Amino acid sequence: MIKRTLADMAVMCGGTISKASLPNTGIAGVTTDSRRVHQGQLFIPLVGEHYDGHDFVQGAFASGAAAALWQSGREVPEGLSEAALIFVEDTLEALQRLASSYRQELQVRVIGVTGSNGKTTTKDMAASVLAGVFRVHKTEGNLNNHIGLPLTVLQLDETVEVAVLELGMSGFGEIELLTRIAQPDIAIITNIGDAHLLQLGSREGIAKAKLEISSGLKPGGILLFNGDEPLLHSGVQALELPAAIGRQTFGIGADNDWSAVNVELGADASRFDMISKRDPQVSLRGLRIPVLGQHNVANALAAIAAALLLGVPQERIQEGLNGLTLTGMRIEPLRASNGALLLSDAYNANPTAVRAAIDFVEHLSGYRRKWLVLGDMLELGPEEAELHAGIGQYVTPDKADAVLTFGPLSRHTAAAAANHFEAGGQSVVAFEDKNELIEWLLTRLAPEDLVLVKGSRGMRMEEIIQALQRV
Ligand code: ATP
Ligand code: MG
Repeated sequence: MIKRTLADMAVMCGGTISKASLPNTGIAGVTTDSRRVHQGQLFIPLVGEHYDGHDFVQGAFASGAAAALWQSGREVPEGLSEAALIFVEDTLEALQRLASSYRQELQVRVIGVTGSNGKTTTKDMAASVLAGVFRVHKTEGNLNNHIGLPLTVLQLDETVEVAVLELGMSGFGEIELLTRIAQPDIAIITNIGDAHLLQLGSREGIAKAKLEISSGLKPGGILLFNGDEPLLHSGVQALELPAAIGRQTFGIGADNDWSAVNVELGADASRFDMISKRDPQVSLRGLRIPVLGQHNVANALAAIAAALLLGVPQERIQEGLNGLTLTGMRIEPLRASNGALLLSDAYNANPTAVRAAIDFVEHLSGYRRKWLVLGDMLELGPEEAELHAGIGQYVTPDKADAVLTFGPLSRHTAAAAANHFEAGGQSVVAFEDKNELIEWLLTRLAPEDLVLVKGSRGMRMEEIIQALQRV
C-alpha cells in the first residue's frame, strides 16, 4: 500500500480519529490478522462468529501497529486510552470503503474475474501473460471474497501496473459490492455453471449475479464474457449497459469476438490458434497451454484477450503462457505406479465442471480403458439427487468405459449411468468406502488405462490418486 496519513485513512473509511491520535502519522498497509502485523500498519479488527478482532487490538499495537479501527459505541479499554484509533460504525464495511477509496486514487489497471468455474485459473493465466510486459499483482490463492478482495486491493502500490483480481460470490449483491471496490477496466465472466444454485434459484439467477460485475466497470471499460453461454447474451441485453462500456465475447464458437481454431486437446497440454473477429491483425498460431481440457482453452481465450486489450504484444503471449503455474488438483496429469494416466481433478466439483472433465476424457484416444471415478458434488441444494443423476445420464459408453462412484449422492450418478451400460457388467459400480473402491480399481487397472478422478473438495478424492500412485 502507498503510505497514507492517519487522517486520510479516517476520511477514506468514513471514520473519526481518537483524541490521542496524531493525524499525520504515516500508515503503511493494513492487516486483519494480529499475528501478522508489520510495523506502521493499520490493524482492522473484524468481528466474526467465533472471534472478535477487538480482543486483539492491544496485541496488534504491541506488535508494531501504528493505528487500529474501533467500532463506535464499544467501550475502549484502559490500555488503549492513548492509542491511535479510528472509530467506525462497522469495521468490515470500513475495510471495504477504505479499499474502494484507495482503488479510486490508483492509476493501476484492473482485470476483475468472476464466473462459476475457472476464476482462479483465468486469473493465473492472465497474470502470467501480462507479467512479461507489466508489473502485475494478482489475488493470492483464492482470496476472492468480501474480506480477501479489499485486502488485496489495499496491497497494491505505485509499482503495480496491472492488478488481476478474483471476485467470488455465493449470493446476489456480493459481486456488486466487490466490483465497486475493484472498479475493473476489464471484467471477465468465465462461465455460468450450477454452483450456488441453492442461493440463486436458477441458472438465470446465477447469470444475473455474475453480471453484477459490470456495475463497477470504469467508464470506457470492457465486459468480456463467455459468448458460448446463451444466458450471458440475454443477460447482457437486459442490462442496458451505458454506451461507454464495451462488450466483447470469447469462446470456442466461431461467432465470438475472440475464438479458438485448430484446437488439439492432448493429455499433456492443449494447443490452439487464437483469432479475433474484431481485429484481423490478431493471429496467434500454435499456442500451447500446459493445462488440459477445452474449458481451459476457453479460460485461456479470456485471459489472452484481456492481455491483448491492455497492450501485451502478440509475440509475447506464448512466452507468458510458458510461465504459467496453477494451483494443484485442477486436471493434473499424473502417473499411477503401474504407469496408467491419472487425471487428477480433485480440487472441486459441480455439474458443469464434471461435464467439462468428462468431455475432455471423451476426447482422449489411445487408451485401453477409460475410467471415471466420480465423488459426490456437495452444496447443490434440494436438487442434488437430480443433478447427480444428470451426470449419470451424461456418461455414455462413447465417453468412458467404466464409472466408479464414491459417496451416497453419487449412487444417483451410478444408477442413471447404469442405464447406458451392459446390464450385469462391471462397468458401473457405486462405492461408499474409499478403500474398497481403491482395491477394486487396483486389481483391474492396466498400464494402458486412463483414470479421471473428480469430486467436491470435501470428498478428498486426492486420496484415491495418492493410493494409485503409491501401490
Ligand atoms: P472457486 O469458486 O473455488 O474459487 P474457481 O472459479 O476459481 O473456483 P478454478 O479454481 O479455476 O475455479 O477451477 C476449479 C475447477 O473448475 C477446475 O478444476 C475445473 O474442473 C473446473 N473449471 C475450470 N474452468 C472451467 C470452465 N471454464 N468451465 C467449466 N469448468 C471449469
Ligand atoms: Mg477460485
